[in-house]
Amino acid sequence: MAGRNHLYIPGPTNSPHEVLSAMHLPMEDHRAPTFPLLLTPVLEDLKKIFRTETGQAFVFPATGTAGWEIAFTNTLNPGDKVLIYRFGQFSHLWMSMAQRLGLDVEFHEVTWGKGIPLDHLENRLKEDTKHEIKAVLATHNETATGVTSDLAGVRKAMDASSHPALLFVDGVSSIASLEFKMDDWGVDAAISGSQKGFMLPAGLAILAFSQKALALTETATFPRCFLDLKDQMAQNALGYTPYTPSTPMLHGLRAALDLLLEEGLENVYARHHRLAEGTRKAIAAWGLKLCAEPGFESDTVSAIVVPEDKDARDVIATAFNKYDISLGAGLTEVMGKVFRIGHIGDMNDVSMLGAIAGVEMALLDSGFDITPGSGVAAAIEYYRSTSTAA
Ligand SMILES: *Cc1c(COP(=O)(O)O)cnc(C)c1O
Repeated sequence: MAGRNHLYIPGPTNSPHEVLSAMHLPMEDHRAPTFPLLLTPVLEDLKKIFRTETGQAFVFPATGTAGWEIAFTNTLNPGDKVLIYRFGQFSHLWMSMAQRLGLDVEFHEVTWGKGIPLDHLENRLKEDTKHEIKAVLATHNETATGVTSDLAGVRKAMDASSHPALLFVDGVSSIASLEFKMDDWGVDAAISGSQKGFMLPAGLAILAFSQKALALTETATFPRCFLDLKDQMAQNALGYTPYTPSTPMLHGLRAALDLLLEEGLENVYARHHRLAEGTRKAIAAWGLKLCAEPGFESDTVSAIVVPEDKDARDVIATAFNKYDISLGAGLTEVMGKVFRIGHIGDMNDVSMLGAIAGVEMALLDSGFDITPGSGVAAAIEYYRSTSTAA
């Protein structure tokens, strides 16, 4: 098929030309005296993205999943109790990893479409007077359902119960796209990956830890080696890494950080909100509903529920085969029931309209009762009327 495939999944996201070309370079000596000139400023600038001055940023040649494991094994001990709410495939997988690693996992089921229930959290922590819960695991943006939880509210609930548990946040599909304030929210482990808001290929776990969490690396008894933070800290302090880093990806990350910081984080957040809002206008015009319940709508991904007599997989297959656009599938419990449009990363009004037009064609082809042009018209009017460009 002529033209390009249009990528509208919530990760990997589109890589800007600046990032792609920054990675296209000869291999280099990662023990050279000049290597710290690349690594050290990258780690410093990452702290601006996490919004931490007191914490420390890390990059591992891995993915977000490894980030979960790094947080667990470097700060906790086998058998420690952790608290998690399960409301989508990613919170499910995180919970499951905690179980497989031998943590004592207390999980609560929440309707897929909602996020962390703050009242429940506060009451549960108040009840835990012996402070058995060592860490609260918060999935900031549940990518499977397009649900964003209120992290400021999570911190408030933890403070209201004066509970000393660590706060671990899965920010894989939120950090560098949605407002994230590590220091203000008292986050102890912030976990992200390269292929979502950072607009790179998959291949880096991008993390930040509080001093409180880093102090625990001295006592944590989980066996660990490749994912040991202490080895990473010792080498990072000298401007190096404990094993061979992916130098092209570090150059790509440098370029991505430059783009994000040049745009300004507030503008990055506002852009994601606008793109999401236009997508939501289109969804409403089609007469369809989000999986996310009101108040939980994500600005990085929309999961759209299809009527019971339809299969979302048909929409996704038609979109790919006929129009060369990639949409996100419904995962496990929502398979066939939802399809997802990513509005994360290197996107603007017109690329978003490409997604909306393509989805609209695939919906019509799949027999949805919608008015041709209705979603596109709603989004066009929203983008035109809210554009801040001159
Ligand atoms: C993508 C994603 C992950 C998994 O990250 P990998 O890089 O695939 O290991 C974890 N959590 C959330 C919320 C995600 O969106």
